[in-house]
Amino acid sequence: MRAAQLVEPGVFEVRDVSIPQPAAGEVLIRVAGAGLCGSDVHLVAMKERLFSLPMTLGHETAGWVEKIGEGVAGLELKQPVLIAGIWGCGRCRPCVEGHENACQYWATRMPVPLGPGLGFPGGMAEFMVAPARTLFPLGDLDPVEAAPLGDAGVTPCHAINLVRRHLRADVTVAVIGVGGLGHLALQLLRATTACRIVAVDNDAARLALAKGYGADETVLSDEHAVETFNQLTRGLGVEVVFDFVGASPTLTLANTIVATSGAVVVVGLAGGTMTVVADSPPHGLPKWGVELIRPYGATSRDIYEVIGLAQRKKLKADIERHPLDEAPAVLAALKAGKVKGRAVLIPPR
Ligand code: NAD
Ligand code: ZN
Ligand code: ZN
Repeated sequence: MRAAQLVEPGVFEVRDVSIPQPAAGEVLIRVAGAGLCGSDVHLVAMKERLFSLPMTLGHETAGWVEKIGEGVAGLELKQPVLIAGIWGCGRCRPCVEGHENACQYWATRMPVPLGPGLGFPGGMAEFMVAPARTLFPLGDLDPVEAAPLGDAGVTPCHAINLVRRHLRADVTVAVIGVGGLGHLALQLLRATTACRIVAVDNDAARLALAKGYGADETVLSDEHAVETFNQLTRGLGVEVVFDFVGASPTLTLANTIVATSGAVVVVGLAGGTMTVVADSPPHGLPKWGVELIRPYGATSRDIYEVIGLAQRKKLKADIERHPLDEAPAVLAALKAGKVKGRAVLIPPR
């Protein structure tokens, strides 16, 4: 079968590999589509060998149950499923509570819990094997359209749920980065809160789409952005800033515009630095009472919530379809900021 693999640091190619077989407790999935994430761009660019290579990428996948391993109950052949992007050990306390993103087994062994395309063979292939526990039924959702929900949907959902107590109807929130994750974050905030939502990006073309995803206002992240936020919030600042970029300029913006007792939620991994100054006003930073959260992935509960919202037509990824064989070119386009919404790789049928 065809599979898009990280062959060695910096080398991403589509190659022929053998079709895997499910062991006991596992399921073989016929892949419908696999999303390409900003994290894949970081993974391919990474100089270190974090995982053993070659490795098939793809941590955002949906498909159909093709073959069921021994001892698996509750799944049917041909059933469409979303595959979780993080696979914990399944046995530790956080895992059994559905928080595989905080697995204690991996915490002492790896910098991140593993997952498909993140240590295990991922979904950018015709078939993949997954532990039965990591499969979530999609019902009548189209698995090609649903694939991006597996990371770009559930990660923002988790980030939002972590700060839900802040998300009252009288506050303003900011979403920085209207890309794969950000365009779904806007829809999730629109569907599950009554906050005023401000979208921020350095690309005017992305901002032009943001109101369609649920933003009330848009702000270009240029040198006037702080002043614009001051005007929008009458100097109070933004209750929660979600940063889906994580570069130094976006972290600095978040640190500056967040309101007293608000929260900064850093999801992006662009390698930026955020400064905390433990000093009295006017030098202290951020403002008093601000929480900083750096979420990773999602819990099972977030995954069920995202599927439910999509089934109720409150959440829909804006997708570009590309053949799996074009994976390296699509990754280059994502890196160059040329993908709108999410690119989904479709394996040959
Ligand atoms: P993407 O490329 O689809 O979107 C990035 C968006 O940010 C684009 O709209 C781009 O125009 C905008 N942007 C880039 N630089 C900017 C800047 N300086 N100022 C304002 N806007 C800027 O990427 P994505 O797939 O949405 O991923 C976003 C980030 O989230 C990546 O760093 C990825 O690694 C990370 N991520 C983290 C987790 C987690 O669990 N923490 C999970 C998935 C992805
Ligand atoms: Zn990702
Ligand atoms: Zn675990």
